[in-house]
Amino acid sequence: MTHDTSDSADIPVTHGVLYIVSTPIGNLEDISLRALKVLSSVDIIAAEDTRKTGILLNHYNIHKPLVSYYSYNEERRIPELIEKLKSGNSIAVVSDAGTPGVSDPAFRLIKAAIDEDIPVAATPGPTAFLPALISSGLPIQPFLFEGFLPVKKGRQTKLQELAKEQRTVILYESPFRLLRTLQDIQTHFGNRKICIARELTKKFEEIITTSLSQAIKHYSAKSIKGEFVIIISTERM
Ligand code: SAM
Repeated sequence: MTHDTSDSADIPVTHGVLYIVSTPIGNLEDISLRALKVLSSVDIIAAEDTRKTGILLNHYNIHKPLVSYYSYNEERRIPELIEKLKSGNSIAVVSDAGTPGVSDPAFRLIKAAIDEDIPVAATPGPTAFLPALISSGLPIQPFLFEGFLPVKKGRQTKLQELAKEQRTVILYESPFRLLRTLQDIQTHFGNRKICIARELTKKFEEIITTSLSQAIKHYSAKSIKGEFVIIISTERM
């Protein structure tokens, strides 16, 4: 099989474009050649975590001006970045990890650019929920990606709603709330088949597909560290 490259090879990085660049979720090798090209060519990189992005850029010997763009300064930063794009600068937005906009603050900048008719281009790449889903052995389609559950207000209502879902449900969770979230899921869903994917692409990667009650037992018995994706099947145990 051959790949027709005539309509895709060597598209130059263009002035005045907001590039949405996916970066690794752990393993620094999980980055596309095009993402590296864009990061090496843009005028500015807007990063959720400049320290973490600095490590990635150093690894690939990329030296570009970095500005911070995260939930606490986005209100102020968005108009500044939009002005720079309008005056012809090319900007890459990168998040802490994975695909910008997927459960992180890049969405508002992307929307602001589109509202101002600024061209937007994405370099596709890593995101945590997709490798978790395809490694889980749980039905892949259809799925619902919910991201983080509300921490307080609306949490119980959201769980009641999700318990009625006929699709595989995907959640993100931090180590601090994992156990509580698993217990809340059990209250609303009953004992479902689930997958917990921890530290994907990293040294301590762990992907467990089991019953919810077993998962609660497993995580009650140890200190919980790392980053987690929870996948809930419609299958009851
Ligand atoms: N933009 C990211 C993406 O494309 O997946 C998600 C950002 S969100 C702020 C961070 C959450 O993603 C973590 O709390 C965890 O639920 C999930 N996550 C990120 N990296 C992960 C990894 N290596 N393994 C498992 N889950 C991960």
